[in-house]
Amino acid sequence: MPSTRTPLIAGNWKMNTTLAEARILAYNVVHMVGVPKGVDVAVCPPFVSLPIVAEALRGSPVALGAQNLYPAESGAYTGEVAPNMLQGLCRYVIVGHSERRAYFAEADEFVNAKVRTALEYDLTPIMCVGETLQQREAGETEDILRTQTSGGLADVDDVSSVVIAYEPVWAIGTGVAATPDDAREGIAVIRNTIAEADGQEAADSVRILYGGSMNPENVASLLEQPGIDGGLIGGASLNGEQFVALVRAAEERERE
Ligand code: PEP
Repeated sequence: MPSTRTPLIAGNWKMNTTLAEARILAYNVVHMVGVPKGVDVAVCPPFVSLPIVAEALRGSPVALGAQNLYPAESGAYTGEVAPNMLQGLCRYVIVGHSERRAYFAEADEFVNAKVRTALEYDLTPIMCVGETLQQREAGETEDILRTQTSGGLADVDDVSSVVIAYEPVWAIGTGVAATPDDAREGIAVIRNTIAEADGQEAADSVRILYGGSMNPENVASLLEQPGIDGGLIGGASLNGEQFVALVRAAEERERE
């Protein structure tokens, strides 16, 4: 049975682009992407560029996402951004990215608080999970994916409102993407974990993206794998032509 999940191609600009660069990149994406057929598209610029990019995206089907949020409405959390500040501005928010886990010591419980907060404020969380190279070499990939998935989704009533990105840490920013088989297997572990906790129907409704050095050369082989519902893109999303090439590849897969 063909999947009813609409693929999502989401760009994570990370800590790149000045205001002026963000505006140009957003206008380029909007201009080149047009109206994607059967594919959702989003860009996640740095916080300070959200309003300027929102302006560039106005009237376009390209959605806006943030790269993080803090799970409280207000308070003494210097440097953080609250969900009510993003509500109405963004559709998506990335949580649990491996860079946040590694550099800011974000653990599953905190990621889970962010997932639940995002949902409360009508934001779709894109929750990232993935093993490090050391964990993969130690044969721990499945355990890590299961722990991060169930930890991040704890007490979430409607898992179908969450997007998950399987991002093997060793594939992020390295130019070495997971093989299509590894990506498919990792995603199958994540979907099985959800099925065990919430039932097969719920698991089948969750969009699970692949992320890690996805580019115009490898995108087709990754997206043709069953269960891969799009991509979370870092480096290639900073180049309008490359990013839009990934959207075109996702459209192509939908046509097949
Ligand atoms: C990411 O950081 O989410 C990512 C997938 O990066 P890259 O595409 O550069 O590997």
